[in-house]
Amino acid sequence: MPGTPDNGEIPMRPLIAGNWKMHGMAAQLREIEAMSKTVHAARTAADVLICVPAALLSRAASIAAGRIGIGGEDCHAQASGAYTGDCSADMLKDAGATTMNAGHSDRRKYHGETDAMVAAKAEPARRAGLTTIICIGETQAQRDGGNALAVCGQQIAGSVPTDLARSGTIAIAYEPLSAIGSGHVPAPGQIIEVHRKIRECLLERAGAAGADIRILYGGSVWSDNVHDILGLADVDGVLIGGASLLA
Ligand code: PEP
Repeated sequence: MPGTPDNGEIPMRPLIAGNWKMHGMAAQLREIEAMSKTVHAARTAADVLICVPAALLSRAASIAAGRIGIGGEDCHAQASGAYTGDCSADMLKDAGATTMNAGHSDRRKYHGETDAMVAAKAEPARRAGLTTIICIGETQAQRDGGNALAVCGQQIAGSVPTDLARSGTIAIAYEPLSAIGSGHVPAPGQIIEVHRKIRECLLERAGAAGADIRILYGGSVWSDNVHDILGLADVDGVLIGGASLLA
């Protein structure tokens, strides 16, 4: 079982989250339909969520009809205003989202998002009634330099507001950059080590509530490796990019 504790406690219900990035036209909504039907019929022992581009959000949510969650991929920190092209957490919620991503490495890389900017999005998302999946992860250079654990610790400290960590409205996704879209999944020991570090940081920030925050692994998860990854200690789910485009 995912993240099975050895102390007799009930394991956390895993979260299987997809992230479509800037992919998907109306025709691909049939994948949402197929996923929703399968998850509903199989009574899957996990929460399933697909984050889609804002343009598809309300149609995806209406097709999913609560059988799987539908999420946004980002939001602006303000509720409304003169921010052309942006979308607020309230708007995502209004369109049918249950969840949103913040701080995905694409946003950090192409939009210069800092930890502080990520943290600033999580609070309005909580007020809107959304769960936020906060993405962190080291670059290959940071790993090669022996700094991966320190970098992930700093990202948690900077991106996760303490009161939110206590409120149970966040999840963390650990996505080492070298694993995203590369077909290269790190060794199990690396994933376990970083997830353990993240758990320590969450316990430090949120006290006992930090034990209940789901920590997802992301980066080249496919049907042939997902089971093994979900079996690793402190892995409470997965964040899936490319493979989530097909039901
Ligand atoms: C991602 O974009 O968050 C991701 C994990 O992508 P992929 O699964 O394609 O590596």
